[in-house]
Amino acid sequence: MAGGAEFSRTVAALALVVWAACSGPARADDLAGLARLDPTQSRIADGGDAGPGGIGIRLALSQAVPYRVSLLDGPPRLVVDFREVDFAGIQPADLLASDRITDAHWGPIRPGWSRMVLALDGPYVVHLAEEKADLAQGGARLRVDLAPATTAAFRAAVGVEEAPDYALPKPAAVDQPKRRQTGEAPLVVVLDPGHGGIDPGAEAPGTREAVVVLNFSTELADILRRAGMTVIETREADVFVPLETRISVARAAGADVFLSLHADALAEGEAVGATVYKLDMAASDAASAKLAERHDRADLLSGIDLSGQDDTVAGVLMDLARAETQPRADRLAGAMAGAIRKAGLKMHRRPVQGASFSVLKSPDIPSLLLELGFLSSESDRARLADPKWRAAMAGAILSALQTWAVEDAAEARLIRQ
Ligand SMILES: [Zn+2]
Repeated sequence: MAGGAEFSRTVAALALVVWAACSGPARADDLAGLARLDPTQSRIADGGDAGPGGIGIRLALSQAVPYRVSLLDGPPRLVVDFREVDFAGIQPADLLASDRITDAHWGPIRPGWSRMVLALDGPYVVHLAEEKADLAQGGARLRVDLAPATTAAFRAAVGVEEAPDYALPKPAAVDQPKRRQTGEAPLVVVLDPGHGGIDPGAEAPGTREAVVVLNFSTELADILRRAGMTVIETREADVFVPLETRISVARAAGADVFLSLHADALAEGEAVGATVYKLDMAASDAASAKLAERHDRADLLSGIDLSGQDDTVAGVLMDLARAETQPRADRLAGAMAGAIRKAGLKMHRRPVQGASFSVLKSPDIPSLLLELGFLSSESDRARLADPKWRAAMAGAILSALQTWAVEDAAEARLIRQ
């Protein structure tokens, strides 16, 4: 088994050479030649060249691309990174014929890069990884064979070396809490359209949460800017942004308010209407817990390891800030629900709820997560598709932010005296 681990390290090294040789500056003709995956000629199945206990991954691409194979632990995952591959319209079920893969995700992860992540049912090592030109069909064939391994051999093979232009931004180190807004400068609002790229969010016939919330965020940003607010979005395209980076963006922007936008699917209960979520680490509601778990899981499955935002912002000052921030976020949640109701828009039967969403954990920035509606509800889908409804919702959010900011600034001035 030690030989297998050694071999897989060699494979990783070789793949990196391919990576380094081919990943020069992008040229215009690179874009025209975006590689596509042919699902009819691709398959992920038990067996393969590593024998009966292994997994064989066979991908037919319209052209060869630089790629890299790596393994991650906790849970065991195979990560295949490609210079951009078009997976449009291809679902994991179209390729998967292996019970040894417990979950599969693929799609864009950073501009110009795509990633496939396969969750494994146990420890494996890479037995073989190679890409060959397909002379008969044209294009290229990428094959990866996984062999079952001992835990020790698997652990020895684990690790992802990010290519320099692929690396994610480091979380901002912070030792001082952000100063509260006092109404003297434009309100800085960070809008956080959820999901994106490899993580489509909830899916419904003909639509995806990642796209729905990005469209809404763009429209809302425009309305807030015209009202004089400063708006930063955590993403402006269909790209993957880790949860931790979303918080870092808010911190770097000096956000007065962080508003995460979602339209999830919830099968259980009657999930209909807009719902305002505030942070509650002890939330016991099963549906909320499931949503929070799903959002964190998307990060894990994308091959990003959650490195604990709490550690980088620990300290007494931050604990004090957290104690002051939570009531401010609670008042914002109340203002938001009030404005949405006043605009006559459909709300959930419990319009304000608590949940332990990671993205709401900034200790010094009042943060909310707004489920605009639920993609699992047909009537919510119709509302989200209606430009008039979206304009009314954006207007309600603007009004809530304005009302809250005035009261919040008055309180800040009182405290300062
Ligand atoms: Zn979501």
